[in-house]
Amino acid sequence: MKQERRTKEELFDALVRNALGFVNSSIDHLQTKPKNAIVDLYTAVELFLKARLMKEHWTLMLSKPETGDLQNLAVGDFLSVYLDDALNRIPSILGEKIDKNASDNFKALGEHRNQIVHFAHSGMDNPSKTQAGVIAEAWASWHYLHALLTGLWEGVFQPYAVELQVLNQRMMRQGEFIKTRFEILKPQIEIQEKKGKKIVPCGHCHMPAAIVGETHSWGTDYTCMVCGVDDTAVEECNAELPCPTCNAPFKFFQKGLNACPSCGHDITTDVLTNLCAKHFTQGDEWCEEGQEHIASCHKCEHPEPSVFFIDGMWSCVSCFDRGWGAVTCERCDEFVTGDMERIQYFACHKCEPLVREQMLRMVETNESGSRAEGSEEPAPIVQE
Ligand SMILES: [Zn+2]
Ligand SMILES: [Zn+2]
Ligand SMILES: [Zn+2]
Ligand SMILES: [Zn+2]
Repeated sequence: MKQERRTKEELFDALVRNALGFVNSSIDHLQTKPKNAIVDLYTAVELFLKARLMKEHWTLMLSKPETGDLQNLAVGDFLSVYLDDALNRIPSILGEKIDKNASDNFKALGEHRNQIVHFAHSGMDNPSKTQAGVIAEAWASWHYLHALLTGLWEGVFQPYAVELQVLNQRMMRQGEFIKTRFEILKPQIEIQEKKGKKIVPCGHCHMPAAIVGETHSWGTDYTCMVCGVDDTAVEECNAELPCPTCNAPFKFFQKGLNACPSCGHDITTDVLTNLCAKHFTQGDEWCEEGQEHIASCHKCEHPEPSVFFIDGMWSCVSCFDRGWGAVTCERCDEFVTGDMERIQYFACHKCEPLVREQMLRMVETNESGSRAEGSEEPAPIVQE
C-alpha cells in the first residue's frame, strides 16, 4: 500500500517536472525555432492539465478511466487524456471553472501545434513577422496557463512555485519582441482606431494595442492585438489609506504594490485587510446594520474575507478584482462574492465542494436503493 502511494506521488512529480521542462525548452526555442516553441508549449499545457486531473484521482488522466490499471500506470503503459477531454473533465468532475478565454486559447494553440506537426506549416515565411507572432502567441498561452497554476490551482502546484516564477520571469523578458510585433501591427491598429474603435494600453503586454469591447460598471473588456489576451481592465479605484507606520496616505488598490511608497513599510494582504477593516466599516445598501460587511472572494478564494465596499463597488484587496455582488449564502451562511444566480440556485464557492458531494451521494443512494428493492419505479429526479 505504501509503495503504491509513493509511486503515484512520484508520477505526479515526474509529470509536473516534465511540464516545467517543456515550458523551459519552449522559451529556449522562441527566437530560433519558433515551431518547436509552439509544439513544446502545447505539450506543457497538456501535461499540466493531466497533472491537475491526476492530483484528484490518477484514473482521471487516462483516456478511459474505467480501464485504469495501477500496474500499467507504474510502468507508463497507458493512453492518457487529450486536451479536449481534460478541458471537459476539469469542470464536470472537479467542479472547477476554467476561464473560456483560457480554454479557447489552449485549443487554438493545439490547432497550431497540429498544423506544425502534421503539415508543412505555412505562414512562417517572413521571419521577423513569424518570430514576433510566435512569441506573442506563446506569451498569451503562458499568461493563461500561469494564471491557472498560480491562481485556481495554487494549492496543487505550490511545491513548484519557485520554478514557475523563474519561468514567468524568463517569458516576460521576451518584451523586445512584443515591441517588434507592435510595430508590425501598428498600421492595423490605426485602421481600427479610424473605424472608431477605442484603443487602450493592454494590461498584460503594456502596448497601446487593446481594442475596447463591452464596458460595464466594473470595467472594460478588451482584446489585445499584440499579445492576443482577452481581459477586463477593472475600473480604477483611487481611494487612499494612511500607511500604518508613517501615516502618509497612499493609493492601496493596485496589484504588485508591496511597500509603502513613503516609508517602505511592508504592505501585505494581511496589512491591507486590517487597514481596510478599520476604514471601510460598511457594506452596500443591501447590508443591514451590524451584519457582516467583509466578503470572501470567489475569484481568488483568499482564506480570509478580503472584499470591502470601496467607492461604490465590492473590491477584493487580495486579487484586486472588483464589481461583483456580495450576499450571504443561504446554504452555508458565509458572506461571499460571486455570480448571484449560481449562489442562489447551486452553491457559493465556500459550500460548493460540500454541495457537490451531497449531490453525488444522493445519486448513489438512489441508484443502489432502487436496485436493491428491484422496483420498477423510476428513481427520483435529482436536480442540480
Ligand atoms: Zn497585450
Ligand atoms: Zn509608510
Ligand atoms: Zn480576490
Ligand atoms: Zn455557501
